[in-house]
Amino acid sequence: MTKHEAKDLPRITVIGTGGTIASAAASADDFHNYSVTSTAKEILAAVPQIAELARIDIQQPINIESFRIDNAILLDIARAVASAVQDPQVDAAIVTHGTDTLEETAYFLNLVVPTDKPVVIVGAMRPANALSADGPLNLYNAILTATAPESASKGVLVVANGHVFGARDVMKRDTSSVDAFQANKYGILAEISGKSVQFLHRSERLHTRRSAFDIARLDRLPQVDILFDHPGAGSYLCEACVAAGSKALVVAGMGNGSLSPGMRKGATVARNAGVTVIRASRTGQGIVAPLRSDAELGLLVAGSLTPQKARILAAVGIANEIPHEDLQALFDTY
Ligand code: ASP
Repeated sequence: MTKHEAKDLPRITVIGTGGTIASAAASADDFHNYSVTSTAKEILAAVPQIAELARIDIQQPINIESFRIDNAILLDIARAVASAVQDPQVDAAIVTHGTDTLEETAYFLNLVVPTDKPVVIVGAMRPANALSADGPLNLYNAILTATAPESASKGVLVVANGHVFGARDVMKRDTSSVDAFQANKYGILAEISGKSVQFLHRSERLHTRRSAFDIARLDRLPQVDILFDHPGAGSYLCEACVAAGSKALVVAGMGNGSLSPGMRKGATVARNAGVTVIRASRTGQGIVAPLRSDAELGLLVAGSLTPQKARILAAVGIANEIPHEDLQALFDTY
């Protein structure tokens, strides 16, 4: 211990869930064939410098790739985070997570964990034993971010490649690059320079403490599906979802969420069956603006949320029994 006695350091609960940050491949030059092999305890032990920054408690509710996370696991992760930050002894929580669905988990936590304490999610693009693995520095930066006083009340934060993103707008935009995480034109919240976390922006949308939602009042999430529209799409995509019991459909439409004739027909079938349909955009950024036809067909618009974030918000709204006529307001608020 150099500058501080350990007892003076902030106390952070790290909740390990798996992902590439906890994975290893057969060789250091294999960047794509790997599986989860390490616990959160082991990946933290690989970065001894963390002991200079914080006292760490570890929980490991699961240890899997994030593309395996379903609604039940998502709820478990949120419960673990909420209970960690409710502990008055704990200053912040960090979730180590696979990068493939990190944006969904981050946004879900942003909606349902009522706290002002920093909650940070971190992953890695390269397995832990790869050449130039990015996990150790990402993890160190996550601890720096979780211990920075400026990180309080900013909503759930995602740390990757020296940048801090807000959970609402972050997206994984690349299959393999270490700068896979971006927020497009909505921007990063902070940049990490050495040991300093320099905040530049904040999100105006409701989150965490100011969100009306709370994991304590959620025991399940409804099935909400995403359909990717394209020229010549069939109405059978929507029909199959309705038959399977989906409670809402998010359509990743073309451009401003434009629907192909087949998807429009399918959306009408879904609405007649009482299923919520939300137009989002497959372009990856921009605001899906309402059209006159939305009122006629009873469709909602995702606004500036990506399809994958719109799915999370719709599920949270429906789980909280928000009536259909009030669901659109959520997309304008969160
Ligand atoms: N390739 C993914 C990752 O970066 C796997 C996952 O999401 O778990 O973690």
